Amino acid sequence: MAFESLSEKLQNALSKLKGKGKLNEKDVDLAMREVKLALLEADVNFKVVKNFINDVKKRAVGSEVMNSLTPGQQVVKIVNDELTKLMGERESKINFSSSPPTIILMCGLQGAGKTTTAAKLSMSFKKQNRRPLLVACDIYRPAAIKQLEVVGEKAQVPVFSMGDKINPVDIAKAALEHGKKNGNDVIIIDTAGRLHIDEDLMAELENIKNVLNPEEVLLVVDSMTGQDAVNVAETFDEKLGITGVILTKLDGDARGGAALSIRAVTNKPIKFVAMGEKLEDLEPFHPDRMASRILGMGDVLTLIEKAQSAIDAQKAMELEEKLRTQQFTLDDFLDQLDQMKNLGPLDQIVGMIPGLNSKALKNVDVNEKELVKIKAIIQSMTKKERQDPSIIDSGRKKRISVGSGTNIQEVNKLLKQFKETKKMMKRFTDMGKMFKKGGGMK
Ligand code: GDP
Repeated sequence: MAFESLSEKLQNALSKLKGKGKLNEKDVDLAMREVKLALLEADVNFKVVKNFINDVKKRAVGSEVMNSLTPGQQVVKIVNDELTKLMGERESKINFSSSPPTIILMCGLQGAGKTTTAAKLSMSFKKQNRRPLLVACDIYRPAAIKQLEVVGEKAQVPVFSMGDKINPVDIAKAALEHGKKNGNDVIIIDTAGRLHIDEDLMAELENIKNVLNPEEVLLVVDSMTGQDAVNVAETFDEKLGITGVILTKLDGDARGGAALSIRAVTNKPIKFVAMGEKLEDLEPFHPDRMASRILGMGDVLTLIEKAQSAIDAQKAMELEEKLRTQQFTLDDFLDQLDQMKNLGPLDQIVGMIPGLNSKALKNVDVNEKELVKIKAIIQSMTKKERQDPSIIDSGRKKRISVGSGTNIQEVNKLLKQFKETKKMMKRFTDMGKMFKKGGGMK
């Protein structure tokens, strides 16, 4: 899960305050010391941590907390508010031109995920009924053009390229003409990256920028590089001037230092985050939702948006009915695992469900190979057992394990997973009901 270790440490630090009826300054100090350590271990910029802790402390020892009936919860709310502020308060959307095409210049170091992200972005525009065009301006890296063509095809977005013998500035100009003629309303320019920032690279980007006058200059940085990503962002902003940042590889970033520092250090918004290699794995960045995910309070809104695009509505209704009437069986479980896969990696999904955290995840560890085993185990059960696994005694467990070519531990694990999933799915439906009633999430 993104930011798993940071999330766990922050939640631990704050959980000590939650149960208390009254708080004094010493309690707050102790908790804040732990929060500070957690942030520093997450590779958050030192100055950012210092200011953050000061801001939280100032509010946490004030009357808003001390006079509250639930002071611990109040501190959590303050940390949530301040984390949100730190990451930019609210979503920063793409600035679309009032006279299209809108031009987006993508830049960043090699390997940050520029090409992949350009394609992801183009696909998200396509879903909004726009007509994007991808432009291959990286003429230096072998196969960069081919790579853009491949991902463009996957995203079903046209790619403009002129090979690797023409100057990127001229390619960009020609692409603009081409886009105008073909009615493309968003033009996304993929540029060359280097392993390190160098003057030639910057000069080339500056030239392209001057010629195209883009609405957005988006810097793509790898969040796993922590403070290096922050330094890269500072330098690109100084030399080129960026309008926003896209953070990639959050799926592998347990610490979150870049995400928490970039906005505060550069004063430039994070516009999107990428959480995987697939084209769907790009989300608009909502500071409030991210803060709430980090603090283990879930992110219901993103979950619902994902579910809307990934889940078969008819099946979802049938499932809700089954859950409501407590008829969810192991056969449905199998079906459900397949659907969950469409939503994205399970660990990310779990992080969005309020009340479930990385610990719950450990019991819901599913991968492809395991899926085959799970199928075999379920198929070795009788129909009755699939409907009510509680009737499976130890003798039957042994038979099932022999029948499916697994062992008793694996059978037990599956039954446990089923139970966890049932619990998790119940939360989905409870949440659904709440939204139907028009209630919000707290
Ligand atoms: P570029 O050199 O900046 O154009 O980087 P690429 O787009 O070629 O990406 C470099 C590698 O990072 C590729 O293997 C991508 O699949 C991978 N990648 C990009 N974004 C993500 C992400 O959000 N998560 C993960 N896990 N991998 C990513």
